Amino acid sequence: MKYLVLIAVLVVVYLLWRSQQRRRDLGASRPAAPPAASPGLPQDMVKCPVCALHLPRNEALADPHGRLFCSPEHRASANR
Ligand SMILES: [Zn+2]
Repeated sequence: MKYLVLIAVLVVVYLLWRSQQRRRDLGASRPAAPPAASPGLPQDMVKCPVCALHLPRNEALADPHGRLFCSPEHRASANR
């Protein structure tokens, strides 16, 4: 009977050790956080002052005054 208890304790310890190992493996294999510019994340939106179109800041075209436009045509028409 003493051996049964000992075996049960060993099994419990082994299962706990296994689950901890697995958790550590999952944490190590998880890829790093994606960069901020990855698609699907909310982006800073700007508004074209000519046509009022909203577009992501990284796709907008800036003029020498720092204003942001949707296209070269609208940038040119605003600076005419
Ligand atoms: Zn525009």
